[in-house]
Amino acid sequence: MEKKSRMPSIDLHPTRCHLCGGEVIFTSNARIYQGKEYGSGRCYLCLQCGAHVGTHIPRPDEALGLLANAPMRKGKVQCHELFDRLWKGKDQSRKLRSKLYAWLSRQMGIPLADCHFGYFDLQQLHKAYSILQSISDYDAKLVDGKLVFEPNNQLKATA
Ligand SMILES: [Zn+2]
Repeated sequence: MEKKSRMPSIDLHPTRCHLCGGEVIFTSNARIYQGKEYGSGRCYLCLQCGAHVGTHIPRPDEALGLLANAPMRKGKVQCHELFDRLWKGKDQSRKLRSKLYAWLSRQMGIPLADCHFGYFDLQQLHKAYSILQSISDYDAKLVDGKLVFEPNNQLKATA
């Protein structure tokens, strides 16, 4: 067995685009936000296809995840909507959230350190979405520190 690592397996200082193989530069994010800088003010940007990813405010040269194109950004938002409703505003929300990430990493068959929506490629985003969709009639909660899913009794409007 390999020793467990907390380091993610994706490159957080990308120089090549994982989507198109193009050259990636570290630059001002004003280039993607109509001339204004946000957050860390920096991003990684693929010069060929325009995929990009933001960086951490305290560590501005470290990418938040994979370079993303529009379908990946949309997938990430959709996954977060399904995931965040499971823990946001709940009792012990931080602990519940970390239990949910651990659960999702097991469902996905990936290490916990890689289990962030911003680290997923489009295929993994689709997989995460269908896993989360499959429990959309359930609420998550902690019982004696263990993650439990319970059917939610709210009547759902069909969208
Ligand atoms: Zn690219």
